[in-house]
Amino acid sequence: MKKTAYWRQLLLYVWVAPITVWCLPLALLAKWTGGGYAIHSGVLEIWGGWVGQRLDRGIPFLGAVNAITIGHIVAGVSPQHLHNSRVHERVHVTQFEHWGLLFPFVYFIAGIRAQQRGGSFYWDNPYEIEARTRAAAAKGKS
Ligand SMILES: [Zn+2]
Repeated sequence: MKKTAYWRQLLLYVWVAPITVWCLPLALLAKWTGGGYAIHSGVLEIWGGWVGQRLDRGIPFLGAVNAITIGHIVAGVSPQHLHNSRVHERVHVTQFEHWGLLFPFVYFIAGIRAQQRGGSFYWDNPYEIEARTRAAAAKGKS
């Protein structure tokens, strides 16, 4: 990694840290309840245990999800779910890096506006559309 790229990435970690740090305990919670965690391509991936069960059962506004991005953390139902959704979730990491602390609010407002237009909070949310489009494009390339 070039020196400027290194500093840029470090700044992005710091910029998103107020969100990321808040969710770090999820790694231990997952580990202690039968799941695990690991760093993959600069992101802390957490899976299984209580965290995985919670995602599988459903979370507010999104319902049951395979994986969710919170700053530089991606939590998933299982390692397989994380693998399958990696490109999609990395798009959300980039969105977090763009908006920083504001991203959860920006995402939420975009979802509410999608609902007001008669669409779905999740499926018609422009940030989800971007993630799906880029993941589909990446799939097409491989
Ligand atoms: Zn998504």
